[in-house]
Amino acid sequence: MIICIIAIYFFYTFAKIYISASEINFVSKAKNLPAVILSSENYQKAAEYKIANEKFAVISSFWDCALFLFWAVFGLKMLQNLLITEGGVLQSAVFILVFIAVNFVLTLPFEIYSIFAKDRKFGFSTIEVKTYAIDNLKSAAIFVIVGGLIISLVAWILSTFALWWFWSFAAVFAVILVINMFYPTLIVPLFNKFIPLEDSELKNSIEILMQKAGLISSGIFTMDASKRDNRLNAYFGGLGKSKRVVLFDTLVKKLDKNELLAVLGHELGHFKHKDILKNIALMAFLLFMLFALLGNLPQSVYDAFGLEKGAHGIIAIFLLLSSIVSFVMMPLIGYLSRSNEYRADEYGSECESKEALASALVKLADENKSFPRSHFLYIFFYHTHPPLIERLKTLGMDIK
Ligand SMILES: [Zn+2]
Repeated sequence: MIICIIAIYFFYTFAKIYISASEINFVSKAKNLPAVILSSENYQKAAEYKIANEKFAVISSFWDCALFLFWAVFGLKMLQNLLITEGGVLQSAVFILVFIAVNFVLTLPFEIYSIFAKDRKFGFSTIEVKTYAIDNLKSAAIFVIVGGLIISLVAWILSTFALWWFWSFAAVFAVILVINMFYPTLIVPLFNKFIPLEDSELKNSIEILMQKAGLISSGIFTMDASKRDNRLNAYFGGLGKSKRVVLFDTLVKKLDKNELLAVLGHELGHFKHKDILKNIALMAFLLFMLFALLGNLPQSVYDAFGLEKGAHGIIAIFLLLSSIVSFVMMPLIGYLSRSNEYRADEYGSECESKEALASALVKLADENKSFPRSHFLYIFFYHTHPPLIERLKTLGMDIK
């Protein structure tokens, strides 16, 4: 059985690497074509950034596979011998927290390289070591408290109910909803400063836009994103009718008023078309499938990992195998998301104009150095947004 599971993981790793290699190959060739959308200098840079990212993804995939082998062959057994005596809720929670912490530490060098070497070289990452260290300490503290509670809750459900996989799904889904509700107002402010938007003319225009879409604003803020990264973004935070609008300071600096309004119009389009609710429903469905599948694994799987079928064993195997299941689900998520984007673009261009949205998208791509072309397999698996060329064509721009 363990050979069979490892073979599946190898196949999953091979698929990821194959997709990345196809993308590297595709971009290396497309780089020599005449530049589209971006200036020729940024077109080259975007291609190089894309290639650097995919090479990094290949190495990360190998490392993930090595980690998987470590856990599958002896890591989990070792941890079980060390930490589990009678297997109560507390022991299970500690087991899982240690498992996650070890994974975190073993992948940390990759994250540090990605932020401080790769993204810095391309002029994105601006974060100081001190900010990064404080961020990580805060995240770790939040994770141990919130994550510890969730893991304990699931461990308790697992050892109490016969239909544990269903009740675990219900509990995890409820917790995700609650976190989503409080994330923008309770968690994000621990990391970033929010300043109410000062430009009253812009503020007025945004409020009119929101009224038209039937949304009540609980404030329009700029966020100091530039202390970590130079990339541009904006979002609507929170669930329910009242939402806060958050504009990255990087976005306000680079886009003019019409472009900003078109971008916000696009985000409002998602609200208007109930995409957020649809995404929540989709997530509930996928999470349900994940729990139904991984919650009904035969005893032989636990034997293969050398784990008891107690709460700790079930959660560990769930965490270990969920990346494979998510990978298989990604094309469906991407497909639905991409079709939502077109309709949000349509709404955004109605709010302002097609020209304003198109020029905003071009500026975003130029600043964020997003390479405008991609291999079809890469789009099929990873793109939550349609290729920029297609979006701009749909907005009526003439691109060859
Ligand atoms: Zn969108």
